[in-house]
Amino acid sequence: MAVQREGTLLLFDCGEGTQRQMVLAKPSISNPSHVFITHLHGDHLLGILGLIQSMALQNRTEPLHLYGPKGLDEIVEFNMAALKVHIPYEICFHRVRQGVVLQERGFKVMAHNTKHTADSYAYRLDESPRPGRFDPKKAEALGIPKGPLWGKLQKGRSVEIAGRKVRPSEVVGRRRRGRSFGYSGDARPTADLARFFRGVDLLVFDGTYSEEYADKAAEYMHSTVGEAASLAAKARVGKLVLTHVSARINDESLLLSQAQKRFHRVEIGEDFSRYDLPLPE
Ligand SMILES: [Zn+2]
Ligand SMILES: [Zn+2]
Repeated sequence: MAVQREGTLLLFDCGEGTQRQMVLAKPSISNPSHVFITHLHGDHLLGILGLIQSMALQNRTEPLHLYGPKGLDEIVEFNMAALKVHIPYEICFHRVRQGVVLQERGFKVMAHNTKHTADSYAYRLDESPRPGRFDPKKAEALGIPKGPLWGKLQKGRSVEIAGRKVRPSEVVGRRRRGRSFGYSGDARPTADLARFFRGVDLLVFDGTYSEEYADKAAEYMHSTVGEAASLAAKARVGKLVLTHVSARINDESLLLSQAQKRFHRVEIGEDFSRYDLPLPE
């Protein structure tokens, strides 16, 4: 999963062939600054060395931040040493625990434990709320001339005009919420996880099995599409995208109909699917 947000590209998991897929997907920013690994199973991790190496060939200089459970640094460092991979940039490892794992200007990323056969984390990205909409008519009615004073009010500062103080709340609407995104990795659909994903605009969730394989989903600690859909309904997400679909399933319309019984705004994720999240008003 690649999330492109303004000038930043974030990756969530890095399966085999990620670097090749990135070339084909042509994101407008080609290199991720942060990579969040859910757990140390090969299908979520095997692409990391290829990515590291190809970014070295492009002479990357800015550091790469890698997030994941305990042991991620050992795997990457061991392989780099064994393969004699030398890179012109720094890799910063961040061991993930529950809570906020990245706080940037404009957004943050949080992690939450998932129930799976390995130490595993789900991630959630939330943008900070944006300032409310500035109302030029109100500003004019209050006698504030267009120019630097408008800018001050938009930034949340009071201004003085003809001896009267004008507060931002008089001309700027309520703060608007930012966008949010959730990614489960491999996971059982727990109530805890539904709470963690509460209200995200887009949720990408483990949909490994069809309903006929509910026992396998429980045994291998994944989710059926119906379980994923129920969680999405409980969490009141905007849209659900099912992913990690088992290779043994060749009838995707069946999966979709099973999921839609419990949550309507659902799709099966495909390679190179793109989802635009508009800014909420
Ligand atoms: Zn796994
Ligand atoms: Zn997996």
